[in-house]
Amino acid sequence: MPLTLDDVRARLLQWKGIDIAKTSNPIPGDGNPHAEIVFVGEAPGAKEDAAGKPFVGSAGKILDGLLDGIGLSRADVYVTNVVKFRPPDNRDPTSAEKVACMPFLVDELAIIRPKIVVPLGRHALAHFSKAALIGETHGRPLPATEGYTVFPMYHPAAALHNPGLRQTLKDDFLALGEFLKTRTERVESRG
Ligand code: URA
Repeated sequence: MPLTLDDVRARLLQWKGIDIAKTSNPIPGDGNPHAEIVFVGEAPGAKEDAAGKPFVGSAGKILDGLLDGIGLSRADVYVTNVVKFRPPDNRDPTSAEKVACMPFLVDELAIIRPKIVVPLGRHALAHFSKAALIGETHGRPLPATEGYTVFPMYHPAAALHNPGLRQTLKDDFLALGEFLKTRTERVESRG
């Protein structure tokens, strides 16, 4: 039997492989299991820890608005995180936490097989490209792909701390919308 998202979820719900898994709730990915686009954040925050779902707090509200701007909703996409547990005091996730949680993300992507993966912020981007810098690569597809196109974006929470990034994020989402459209047209014209 092929692995399913329910299997990944069930494994995550009982996994205690890192310390924060003993103090925070597991937050599995959420959304359309057949999504063409998967958004990958860094780690859940307090709101996500309480709700059991990714991106339901203020960063999630920004993400919803950005999706709406290109005619998408959360029901169209799949949203997950590199680290599946809230780091205390919202500190950055450690390398060990990222490495330990990696198999969950790898399985999610292998099951969904999206066309586009959008890493949100530098922690998620590092999973897909060690060399790429978010400040240099945001808002356009990375050249090297393996099954899916990686399209880096700033983390929506960055717009909360740095209002100047709000327009950048909007522009980057519009670029994603255009990329999606031309990609679909290319696929359709091939018949
Ligand atoms: N920030 C993230 O990176 N992930 C969430 O789920 C919420 C906020």
